[in-house]
Amino acid sequence: MKLSFNQTHKYSSLEEDLKYCEEYGFDEIELRLNKIKEYLKNHTIEELVMFFDTHRLKPYALNSLENVTFCDDIQYQQIKDDLNFLGEIGNKIGCHTIVVVPSFNVGDYTINQIKMESIRVLNDLADQAEKMNMRLAFEFVGDPDCSVNTLQQCYDIIKKINRESVGMVLDFFHFHSLGSHIEELKKVDPEKIFVVHIDDADDFPRGYLKQDKHRRFPGEGSINLDEILSTLKQIGYEGTISVELFRDEYDNWGAEEFIRTAKIKTENIVRKHFPSKAILNNDG
Ligand code: ZN
Repeated sequence: MKLSFNQTHKYSSLEEDLKYCEEYGFDEIELRLNKIKEYLKNHTIEELVMFFDTHRLKPYALNSLENVTFCDDIQYQQIKDDLNFLGEIGNKIGCHTIVVVPSFNVGDYTINQIKMESIRVLNDLADQAEKMNMRLAFEFVGDPDCSVNTLQQCYDIIKKINRESVGMVLDFFHFHSLGSHIEELKKVDPEKIFVVHIDDADDFPRGYLKQDKHRRFPGEGSINLDEILSTLKQIGYEGTISVELFRDEYDNWGAEEFIRTAKIKTENIVRKHFPSKAILNNDG
């Protein structure tokens, strides 16, 4: 089981994140669109390619295309431009997965209408993504304001699309925050889980617990991580697990301390369920 870090530290650069993820033993990294754009202001893409060619650390996924459903033409064109940009970057660095997020506060649409719109948009984006050898990971967000906010609703969309290039993200925070059911996770085809985000959460009630700032290091909150991890193991998930933390408090730490702590805390939890060679090798 490989461990990845999602570039969520507000003030760190891609350069710093690469350095410390390599140093503290992450296997992979999820790159974020704004950090890539920032990096390219004073680096070339060839430098990034060279980094991955000469280090153990590899890219896991690219984050993210957001608010992709119920868009107007201008918003949608920006999404397609970003998809094109991330596709070009991904092909150069050898990363073929892009995280895609549904829209918020869309108004009075029923679950079925949201499903139809999500299917329409994901199919259209997948037409473009496939030409670039990219695949899309749709991430439900456990916030009452998000149009797709439970595992069941998201997986229903993914199954209906039934396309090799379209899968989903399972984020522990979003799974927990609106009470997605573990029984639903047991029914998921592991091949349809393209990305896993691990994190923990403050012990707040459903619906209130929705903001990224309520995330905590794995093992320091109220999410039943063991239940989700053991279920992932049971259904045969063998992909990477990526720690994704947004919390103002952590942004006050330096990037090095943040990444080092994230690695230790994530490994402690994940290794109980997935004591794989990749993790054991880090010890030796
Ligand atoms: Zn996530």
